[in-house]
Amino acid sequence: MTDNGWYAKGDLVAVLTTQPLDRCLDYAAPEGGCPEGAFVEVPLGPRKVLGVVWGPGAGDFDRARVRSIDRVLDVPPMQAELREFLGRCADYTLTPMASMLRMATRAPGLTDAPSMRWVYRRGEGKPERMTDARRRVLATLEEYGGLAFTMSELSATAGVTNSVIKGLVKQGVVVEEATPRDLPYPRLDHERAGLPLSEAQAAAAAALRAAGKRGAYGTTLLKGVTGSGKTEVYLEAVAECLAAGRQALVLLPEIALTGEFLSRVERRFGARPAEWHSGVTMTERRRCWKMIAEGGAELVVGARSALFLPFRDLGLIVVDEEHDSSYKQEDIVFYNARDMAVLRASLCDAQVVLASATPSLESWANAEAGKYTRLELGARFGAAEMPDMRAIDLRGEKIPSGRWISGELQRAVEARIAQGEQSLLFLNRRGYAPVTVCRACGHQIGCDHCDARMVEHRFQKRLVCHQCGETKPMPEVCPKCEVEGRLAPVGPGVERLAEEVVSLFPEARVAVLSSDLFGSARALKEKIAEIAGGGADIVIGTQLVAKGHNFPLLTLVGVIDADLGLQGTDLRAAERTFQLVRQVAGRAGRTADRQGVALLQSHQPDHPVIRAILSGDEEGFWRAEAEQRRVVGMPPYGRLAGIILSSPEIAEVFDFGTELARRDGPLREVGAQVFGPAPAPIARVRGRHRLRLLVKAAKGVALQGALTRWIAQLRVPNNLRLSVDIDPQSFW
Ligand code: ADP
Ligand code: ZN
Repeated sequence: MTDNGWYAKGDLVAVLTTQPLDRCLDYAAPEGGCPEGAFVEVPLGPRKVLGVVWGPGAGDFDRARVRSIDRVLDVPPMQAELREFLGRCADYTLTPMASMLRMATRAPGLTDAPSMRWVYRRGEGKPERMTDARRRVLATLEEYGGLAFTMSELSATAGVTNSVIKGLVKQGVVVEEATPRDLPYPRLDHERAGLPLSEAQAAAAAALRAAGKRGAYGTTLLKGVTGSGKTEVYLEAVAECLAAGRQALVLLPEIALTGEFLSRVERRFGARPAEWHSGVTMTERRRCWKMIAEGGAELVVGARSALFLPFRDLGLIVVDEEHDSSYKQEDIVFYNARDMAVLRASLCDAQVVLASATPSLESWANAEAGKYTRLELGARFGAAEMPDMRAIDLRGEKIPSGRWISGELQRAVEARIAQGEQSLLFLNRRGYAPVTVCRACGHQIGCDHCDARMVEHRFQKRLVCHQCGETKPMPEVCPKCEVEGRLAPVGPGVERLAEEVVSLFPEARVAVLSSDLFGSARALKEKIAEIAGGGADIVIGTQLVAKGHNFPLLTLVGVIDADLGLQGTDLRAAERTFQLVRQVAGRAGRTADRQGVALLQSHQPDHPVIRAILSGDEEGFWRAEAEQRRVVGMPPYGRLAGIILSSPEIAEVFDFGTELARRDGPLREVGAQVFGPAPAPIARVRGRHRLRLLVKAAKGVALQGALTRWIAQLRVPNNLRLSVDIDPQSFW
């Protein structure tokens, strides 16, 4: 290799591929040479696979049998920063490098040659004759606000045949254009003035801008109640980053939030940013990936996986609602996007802004320890106040069985309806009823593949397993005692609550917001917009509604069961309940002229968590919670790793788990302890028996190395799956 990282034809290079091998393979640089980091196509056995030139070849392979790289792809090479990030992320999460590379190349058609393609967008006028199918095509094009579609995307999204589209093209109502496959995104105007900021906002914005100017790594925790104007403030940091000619990434926890955010970006900078999440089309995904690599995208709004995009010069990462559990991926690659954002930023001299009304204890503690800068927005923007919060003590209430709304809550809702205002009833349970029980024999209907109860979804007319998604029709007779007609729902889900609401408030317009009731993110987004516009009097929602939606007419929040989250044995039960209920309560009265009220129905209004929620003494809550964790050496004052074993053979998992626990020498060497094995709380999922071990260590211990040595002692049997979850968030 020459000094500038170029390999000449025939030089030996190490290529990391996306194939599940545990090392790089040696290849010869192709005709014309290739740079380090080049995306390449290499022969592997009979196939061609995607890879990246990772460095000089190891040379430990018979030189005569080394094959040549087939082709260097026409995309910019992966930069050293991203290669290092993938490596460090792999080391931290104990993930094979091939899986990391797959995360970083999740764009379709990367290996395709650049070419032109036909795309379709809205043209002029109306069709001569309007049909249902034609209307759907036009509606689809309008919905996506001017985006171009390929033929197959348009026909699939609109649910029409190609000939319908071709017919519209003939009339000029839809235009067909040849475009280079991937175009840069419109420039964002970072010099445009934002909204005039309040004093607190201006101070926070100035601090973020100053941090950005330094062009070095730093993390800021931006804490402020919902509606305090955090978004407005971090958009200033985005402006600073763009002014420096660097790229910015904003991570959001929920796709349904991107719509509102995109419009805000457009208002602030005059154009829309690139989007990266499961809701964008494949064409758009590839464009986004390429433009980020080429510098044709300045700002990306995305889900956690956007962290692995090939930014050319990433200067800022915003993690909005940083406490949100959806930033933790617990599937194939186990990682926390919030933590990995900090890692990536530290490798590319970027700033991180963690925004939240209710930060995670980890971030709170990092700010306390001085690792993060803390900025605070105290009040809500303008005159809007946090809602009044009160508990409704259910112990004194006589609520008839099969009902969950207390008299006090009912009267409060009636008052809102009379004033033309909205109420939100929050219940974090999807479906109709969490349990279906046979009144004759007491049998509870469970999933055939999981150790979980089936949840009745009356709307879908089925029982659903929330673990594996398996569904079955509601049986007529009890599967155990075969008595007919005695199966009954127990406990409420949002659908059942909706029935009660309809019977209590027959005149009211009721909307249920639950992720399973919407076929697509788009449908959900539309519903949210409709509600925000006043299209409902009572909204019934799961945690979906807790996340940052703006409902201007909403002045009452009723939490149906504030105790729900407190029952778990989860380390973070208190923290989660505190965050969730505070977030939901924050939905009430977001505007200046309406005072909101939040009513928490509880059987234990004196519980310290409920008291902390009501009093709003956040610092007190964090301090008490931190102290409890410190005493027992739990995160963030200690380290945890979860080991999840699963197999169709129950004896096999137990034998393996027991043996692993017994041979804990490598762990003891670093002072770590192993607990278990124990059947996981959900002991069977999709027919696989699950076992957990928990490793606990002091803070600052090099745990990953010890874990690797520990696990390497045993050979993992073929049908046994072993996953390591560093810093586990959930313990199912
Ligand atoms: P957060 O992100 O903290 O929940 P937002 O940034 O969404 O808060 O602000 C809440 C509401 O207040 C939004 O409707 C926003 O447009 C408005 N807002 C925030 N800051 C300003 C400002 N400086 N001038 C005018 N409106 C503002
Ligand atoms: Zn199941």
